[in-house]
Amino acid sequence: MALIVHKYGGTSMGSPERIKNVATRVAKWHDAGHQIVVVPSAMSGETNRLLSLAKEITAQPDPRELDMLAATGEQASVALLAMALHAIGKEAVSYAGWQVAIETDSAHTKARIRSIDDAKVRQDLDAGKVVIITGFQGVDDLGNITTLGRGGSDTSAVAVAAALKAAECMIYTDVDGVYTTDPRVVSDARRLKTVTFEEMLEMASLGSKVLQIRSVEFAGNYKMPTRVLSSLTDPLMPLEEEAISGTLISFEEDTKMEQATITGIAFNRDETKITVLGVPDRPGIAYQILGAVADANIEVDMIIQNQSVDGKTDFTFTVPRGEYTKAMDVLNEKVKAHIGAASITGDAKVSKVSVVGVGMRSHVGIASQMFRTLAEEGINIQMISTSEIKISVLIDEKYMELAVRALHKAF
Ligand code: ASP
Ligand code: MG
Repeated sequence: MALIVHKYGGTSMGSPERIKNVATRVAKWHDAGHQIVVVPSAMSGETNRLLSLAKEITAQPDPRELDMLAATGEQASVALLAMALHAIGKEAVSYAGWQVAIETDSAHTKARIRSIDDAKVRQDLDAGKVVIITGFQGVDDLGNITTLGRGGSDTSAVAVAAALKAAECMIYTDVDGVYTTDPRVVSDARRLKTVTFEEMLEMASLGSKVLQIRSVEFAGNYKMPTRVLSSLTDPLMPLEEEAISGTLISFEEDTKMEQATITGIAFNRDETKITVLGVPDRPGIAYQILGAVADANIEVDMIIQNQSVDGKTDFTFTVPRGEYTKAMDVLNEKVKAHIGAASITGDAKVSKVSVVGVGMRSHVGIASQMFRTLAEEGINIQMISTSEIKISVLIDEKYMELAVRALHKAF
């Protein structure tokens, strides 16, 4: 008997029929003697529907009220799933984040989990109940409902699993695992049986949107074995088969030694590049530029500072497309005159492509093979960044798919 956390995404919870399927699957696991906690998302489309309602009321909804609103999607889900379980004779109880409580900071719409009280959940589990907890939401220390950012239910599930020291966190979703790259771009992409947490972190942060990145960080920090698997299979399929399906995020590098050097090709279409030109090259400049951007809560990814010429240098970095205008405004209004930069330019249509793999650590020549492959396709590289287990390049958005296909073939 093990304590297992199941997470079901919006598609899996998308209709009464599908919710009944989830109940059937959960009941199967419970019948096998496991203690089961379920963390579902809102029904598919529901969070978008709620957020667009807010937008119809006002262009700038108050973040606290936005969370109050968005969190209702998950509250509906947990109640419906509890009813579906009751209907097939299972004892089950649903809780909102504040009832557990899942405590977060007060950063509305992108709150971070601080702690989870496991007392009530354990009591219910010990009494033989299935416990269903809302994904995506928590409560701050003033009692305000918070949400964890889009896709946050993954993070809720892994955090709950970590708090309960579960044996595994199983993330049921509409894909059947993690692939070497996006199968929509490369038709012969393969499903990975295992991926290390570090690789998954790179894949998730590089835009493979299978899991919310913070959930992978949680899995890594708490060494929580986390499996991504399909919810579209027969809910009554043999449990032993289901238990080893999908992709397991593991912590064992040695199990991967036999495998290829490169685990996957990740990409992110929605990048933009900003260059601050003619900056006086003196201490504190990088801090003044990037500090202002960070203060505006904008995430910066790749950074390059050019060699200085006559005491002036250029500074280039990337930000997500959604934050481009905000970043440009911050730089033009708060930074440009202050640091005496000549001008600020940007390109809102660039993409990032990366090769990822822990096997890279022990191999040389991966970078040159990557650059040769791109050169053969006539693709110009605008920026390069590397870590121990990945190499990323920034390229014109129109060559992204070509680059991914060529690299997938080459590696
Ligand atoms: N319902 C939320 C969203 O759509 C959270 C989630 O599904 O993970 O972003
Ligand atoms: Mg999701």
